[in-house]
Amino acid sequence: MAGNQFLDDVNRQFNEAAQHVPMEDGLAEKIRVCNATYVTRFGVRLRGRMETFIGWRAVHSTHVTPAKGGIRYALSVDQQDVEALAALMTYKCALTGLPFGGSKGGLLIDPSQWEREELEKITRRFTQELVRHNFLSPSQNVPAPDVGTNELTMVWMADEYRRWAPNDINAFACVTGKPLAAGGIEGRIEATGRGVQYAIRAFFRSPRDVAWTKLTPELRDKSIIIQGLGNVGYHAAKFLSEEDGCRIIAIIERDGALLNSQGLPVEAVKQHMGQTGGVKGFPGAEYISDGSRALEHDCDILIPAATERVIDEYNALRIQAKLIVEAANGPVTFEADSILRNRGIVILPDLFVNSGGVIVSYFEWVRNLTHMPFGLMERRHDEVSNRLLASSLETMTGAKFPSDIARPFLDGAREIDLVRSGLDEIMQSTYRQLSDLCHSGKDVCDMRRAAYIIATKHTAEAYRAIGI
Ligand code: GLU
Repeated sequence: MAGNQFLDDVNRQFNEAAQHVPMEDGLAEKIRVCNATYVTRFGVRLRGRMETFIGWRAVHSTHVTPAKGGIRYALSVDQQDVEALAALMTYKCALTGLPFGGSKGGLLIDPSQWEREELEKITRRFTQELVRHNFLSPSQNVPAPDVGTNELTMVWMADEYRRWAPNDINAFACVTGKPLAAGGIEGRIEATGRGVQYAIRAFFRSPRDVAWTKLTPELRDKSIIIQGLGNVGYHAAKFLSEEDGCRIIAIIERDGALLNSQGLPVEAVKQHMGQTGGVKGFPGAEYISDGSRALEHDCDILIPAATERVIDEYNALRIQAKLIVEAANGPVTFEADSILRNRGIVILPDLFVNSGGVIVSYFEWVRNLTHMPFGLMERRHDEVSNRLLASSLETMTGAKFPSDIARPFLDGAREIDLVRSGLDEIMQSTYRQLSDLCHSGKDVCDMRRAAYIIATKHTAEAYRAIGI
């Protein structure tokens, strides 16, 4: 099982980075180890028999509370996977400056094997266990969707928590990634994919960094291979092809891969998957059944957006991409990481690339605590000021304000505009820190190490500030 090695990978990455961060005796170990993991084995009566499920919630760090991180429903999950993923959440939040510790949950289940009502029953029972043991609350531990879970899972959890704590006015802040009508925020579903797009844009805004890859400086027309057309991969591929003019030349899914050097229509492929359950049989593309081989095809950018450890020491030697963008958590093993770096392949690391999900989760959580949508107080006020400015310009110049830009200029920002702008701001400012550290020449030659160093520094500072 990959669990052990995955946790090992994360810890080894941390250990390497920690050598570059001055820390008092023992602090590095305190940061690295997982604070606590709750294991629950609970029963649910389904289909006329008692089914027992096993679930975990790991809290890697509570140097800031609440601890934050998704809950995954999968048959491949185990305790150490969950602990590795919780550690990544700590570092991700520390790197991007979010006020959260790191946590992650898992339930050993294949969600496709159960009906919606059954999943609801199971989720509600799991939630009761988490709440009872203080592993779920708006102030202590706030889950979100991950592999195998979605906004429905979250609203069941929120509703179950509210039953448990009817007097908690902030009850719905106990999870993020909820549906809009139940305390969610616009843009959360697409957030991780949107963040991947902003991460790539940030990279291409820096010509000195693009020069590392020997790619041409513009993002337009870059060829992309994407692994996984789930929530993250689908949105990233859609935005990069529709808005940035990139060509998605391969899509790798569970049942094989589709190839087309002219670019695949992402939306149509997604629809085909919805109808047939896979990519096989999609017209207008070459199909190969051994999808993992497509990771090794020639392309400009490779985006693993599925699960951990898909690029290892074996296929790392054959990868032909110039840039790897880690939309999944931990897709490149520790060994593969150094092989790729030695081969001159640049990697934008998971801690940075896929942080869009938790960043917009932060906005949702704050919105739940304030009980007010973002921009509500300013929007009309901004519109009035903008109108005044436009009419002053018209008076001063004698020209009419161009009608095509009047609407977007005059209207104040909507909540979705603010969500996107906040996400872009955090992605861009985090990227600048990473890039500057990489160029500072102080022993740092790769973005992953830079990300771990910044995250470790921030975490160590937080520990010192609270006197630990
Ligand atoms: N599951 C997502 C992640 O791995 C989101 C976590 C969150 O929003 O708390 O980053």
